[in-house]
Amino acid sequence: MTYQNYSLKQLQQVDAAHHLHPFTDHKELREAGSRIITRAEGPYIFDSEGNEILDAMAGLWCVNVGYGREELARAAYHQMKELPYYNSFFKCSTPTPVLLAKRLAELAPPSVNQVFFGSSGSEANDTALRLVRHFWALEGKPQKNRIISRKNAYHGSTVAGTSLGGMEPMHQQLGGAVPNIVHVMMPYAYELALPGESDHEFGLRAAKAVEDAILEAGPENVAAFIGEPIMGAGGVKIPPMSYWPEIERICRKYDVLLMLDEVITGYGRTGEWFAAQSFGITPDTITTAKALTSGYQPLSALLVGDRIATTLTEKGGEFYHGYTYSGHPVACAVALANLDIIEKEGLVERVKNDTGPYFAQALRERIADHPLVGEVRSFGLMGAIEIVRDKATKERFEGDGRAAVVVRDHAIANGLMLRATGDTMILSPPLIWTRETIDLACERIGKALDLAH
Ligand code: PLP
Repeated sequence: MTYQNYSLKQLQQVDAAHHLHPFTDHKELREAGSRIITRAEGPYIFDSEGNEILDAMAGLWCVNVGYGREELARAAYHQMKELPYYNSFFKCSTPTPVLLAKRLAELAPPSVNQVFFGSSGSEANDTALRLVRHFWALEGKPQKNRIISRKNAYHGSTVAGTSLGGMEPMHQQLGGAVPNIVHVMMPYAYELALPGESDHEFGLRAAKAVEDAILEAGPENVAAFIGEPIMGAGGVKIPPMSYWPEIERICRKYDVLLMLDEVITGYGRTGEWFAAQSFGITPDTITTAKALTSGYQPLSALLVGDRIATTLTEKGGEFYHGYTYSGHPVACAVALANLDIIEKEGLVERVKNDTGPYFAQALRERIADHPLVGEVRSFGLMGAIEIVRDKATKERFEGDGRAAVVVRDHAIANGLMLRATGDTMILSPPLIWTRETIDLACERIGKALDLAH
């Protein structure tokens, strides 16, 4: 029986009875019922009631080439027929992960040339954590194993991802994180800059918090610093341009590895292939997933810099880590076809030169002045709108993000899917958006803000 034989109500009942959802209050879900999305085309998703909704989140920050791409379906079909699965354990390989790894090495900063595959961003960060600790052990410094991260960071939902991340409620539920991970302040000027402090100065001060944490632990005990170039799930927090180069300088000074989590920013969202290029830095590891296949297949790629890779190959010794689906042939075939589309359609350049600047201007000119809006900010095709009670004082509404949820619900009812996290509305549209799509989104956001006001 296909789902078409079910009414919406029946599907919702079955969903509530059998399907536990990620990041969901199941009591609330049971009362409200799920919105069931049944198909999608280009920038639009359609629900079971036939409503057409412009998807300003690209699914979950991932469907960068938009929905309904024949080329990706064909790549999966052909690979499934030829070789649906074989592993890359025990000195085996299959062609598509090999070709994908080469392609990623060509796109990444010059000193990043090796790739470890998994199925999700969380898995890739788990790999990254183990890899940097393994690296320092091989270097004869096993005590150099502390990781510095940021408060409110999101690095995934596995035990390692949760521990690396800085989200308090997740830590509390975990009830005991991976040891030796510390969290410092995030580079979020809107809330944390001091009166009179310039963006540049704030960026340097936020970076200094990392240096302080290194010195407190002793550089000989610190393995790495990890960060999202732009914090995503934590509310699209865009650091000042002074932040990342200073972080890189500090890491090099104390011989601390620099790990970038580009699960959201990778593959074009910031107007470069990687945000590392947008901020002019060269990390030791880059975690990627999501847009690598535009979400058409679960796949992650941890890109590994030459320093770590050279030690692994020269010192030898087994890296006791891997997943059944590391280098899955079908997922890798889809990733290759997805990169072809991004390249052929010039999507990265389009974000940099056209839609990115237009998006920033549209948010500034059409949304920022609304009485409910404290700040708009964006970088490439990643944006945020802060909801406040009082623009001048930045006072928030009570109810812990309820105001943003109200705006979000009005937006969805008016045909725009976006997300609310805390008091922040988040946008992360597919890279196929045009100026016209941005205009349409702004019109619908404006309407939602008016309705919520
Ligand atoms: N890292 C970042 C920056 C993310 O945004 C996410 C997911 O949103 C993850 C890691 C985890 O990825 P996944 O959900 O594929 O495990």
